[in-house]
Order: sequence, then structure tokens, then C-alpha cells
Amino acid sequence: MSLMEMKFSISKKVLCAVFGHKIITSKKITSHLKEYQCTICKMELTNDEKGGITFLTPELKEINDALETFCQKKLSLKQH
Ligand SMILES: [Zn+2]
Repeated sequence: MSLMEMKFSISKKVLCAVFGHKIITSKKITSHLKEYQCTICKMELTNDEKGGITFLTPELKEINDALETFCQKKLSLKQH
């Protein structure tokens, strides 16, 4: 990463710290489980088991991906 890129990503984080994150839903896994992303600093969030919001760690991402595959399989089974 160049120094300019580093400065750029730091200033984005500062923007979020000052104005707040601009969060969008990046992925809908189930009706209760979604992944969210800040369009400015690309920070990722997801729902935890209590229905709250937590940071999307690589472990949680793996669980979400597995759940998504599982739900899609269930859905395609219903259609046949
Ligand atoms: Zn942000």
C-alpha cells in the first residue's frame, strides 16, 4: 500500500467517525440474518444470534456462507 492510499483510507475512517457510517445491506441470508457494509470505509457487519449487530469476522462470514448455501438448497428442494 502506498503512502497516498494509506492517507486515503485513514481519511475515510475519519469521515465515518465524524459523520457516522453509511450502512447498506450487502447480503440477505435469511429474514433474520443479513450482512451489512459501510459504503465509505467498507466495514462489514452482521446480525448476531440475539438479533443485534456485530462485526463480521472471518468466522462469522464462514457461518453465514454455510447458512446461505443451506437455505438455498432448502429453497430449491421446495420448488421441485
Ligand atoms: Zn464507515
